[in-house]
Amino acid sequence: MPATTVFSGNYGLAPSHTFGLRRRRDEEASEHGGIWMSAETIVILGAGMAGGVAARTLRQEGLDGRVVTIGNEPTPPFGRPPLSKTYLRGEEELSGWLVNPEGWYESNRVDRVADTATRIDAITSKVEVGAGRPIPYGKLLLTTGGTNRPLGVPGAELPGVFQLRSVADCDAIKQAARRGARAVVVGMGFIGSEVAASLTQMGVEVSAVLPGAAPLESVLGPEVGEVMSGIHRDAGVKLVTGDEVVRFEGANRVERAITKAGDELICDLAVVAVGIRPTVDVLEGTGVAVDNGVMVDAMCRTNVPGIFAAGDVANHLHPLFGRIRVEHYNNAEKQGAAAARSMLGSDAAYGYIHTFWSDQYEHKLEYVGHVRAWDRFIMRGAPEERKLVGFYLTEGVLRATVGLNRGGDPELDDRDELAAAGRLIARQARPEPLALADESVALDDL
Ligand SMILES: Cc1cc2nc3c(=O)[nH]c(=O)nc-3n(C[C@H](O)[C@H](O)[C@H](O)COP(=O)(O)OP(=O)(O)OC[C@H]3O[C@@H](n4cnc5c(N)ncnc54)[C@H](O)[C@@H]3O)c2cc1C
Repeated sequence: MPATTVFSGNYGLAPSHTFGLRRRRDEEASEHGGIWMSAETIVILGAGMAGGVAARTLRQEGLDGRVVTIGNEPTPPFGRPPLSKTYLRGEEELSGWLVNPEGWYESNRVDRVADTATRIDAITSKVEVGAGRPIPYGKLLLTTGGTNRPLGVPGAELPGVFQLRSVADCDAIKQAARRGARAVVVGMGFIGSEVAASLTQMGVEVSAVLPGAAPLESVLGPEVGEVMSGIHRDAGVKLVTGDEVVRFEGANRVERAITKAGDELICDLAVVAVGIRPTVDVLEGTGVAVDNGVMVDAMCRTNVPGIFAAGDVANHLHPLFGRIRVEHYNNAEKQGAAAARSMLGSDAAYGYIHTFWSDQYEHKLEYVGHVRAWDRFIMRGAPEERKLVGFYLTEGVLRATVGLNRGGDPELDDRDELAAAGRLIARQARPEPLALADESVALDDL
């Protein structure tokens, strides 16, 4: 277990402007390993996207009290998207993806504890890090993200078989992915698809094994899946569909992947991208309700008073979409901020109309809304040119929309058609199917 490191800190007790936090007159401050703690201390467990944004929001909202982040990655909070794209391909460093700039934590008196939290005592309100050092909290935000699901087949532990979540994972893949190497990508969800695209762009020969008929089919449906298949095949990816890897073989390192259908895929490296599971181990014994992530209400509150959750780990009650857990950057950012405001006493429900994007080769996918199963799919645009908008409806109500190469950014541009689709989704519109399919009809007119 690495020794705890405190990166920054102003250890004096600052005057309190608690913005809705219940100020305890009998608050006790005590010293723990050099960090002054008080009943008002807000501890953010998990220093990734959601955690970094939450810390920033607490300060932006005027909280003057103590804030501590606990995180076990060597980097300060950063955005992971370049790990399957520009950083993997060696086109970009991560400095532009830091959640808060270098020096921000120190100048904003946010203490960064670089260690693994091993236990939470929800009775005495303490997080234990490392070998059991307690860090007391007044309120606790869980932003522990997700952990890659293992493939669980023989040979998965062979050198050369990788998964991707951290910078170290990415660096290891990058090192193995020399031009001319052969790679097997297992799973063609977002991470698998992006890695397959990046490796191909790096001159690696890629075979991708997927259980369905097309990449991203389960999220985007067969129509868009078929378009994505065409994109990958045209780039040179061998798609092994309707199949699964049952073992990896190799003397000292992975040399081939064997599929259920009996295919033998020779490879120098493999990347397993079969999804994540929410990282909840540290919650054992706390009484915090867990079911496909940490169960939170619309204010990001768990069932245990004073404990909140946000980001990939949070299974939240969305006012429109019901109970969902979202594994995307924009949610981590928005929900990290929303949870911070809830901790400061806001009672606003987190009702973000979810959006995400994925970059594969020169193609950009953008998505707004949320739907797992739909009964009608309507497309406008030109799938053969790989420019399209797809609408997902349930009982006539527009629930989600995907755009492929339609330009704009729904986060930034109000006039963007995905932003317009987001407005329709927010008001649970029942657009006329013929109008949806008609390029000449502006979505805002529906
Ligand atoms: C390679 C890759 C590419 C991606 N690309 C996109 C994209 O293009 N578009 C998009 O919308 N989304 C993308 N995502 C998803 C997006 O990055 C995640 O949704 C986001 O990182 C979630 O943020 P988070 O803060 O909830 O979790 P994380 O970023 O995972 O942060 C959680 C942190 O908590 C730490 N932690 C966990 N347990 C403990 C513990 N017990 N003690 C201490 N620390 C702990 C973890 O190490 C980690 O640092 C991508 C993800 C990956 C992996």
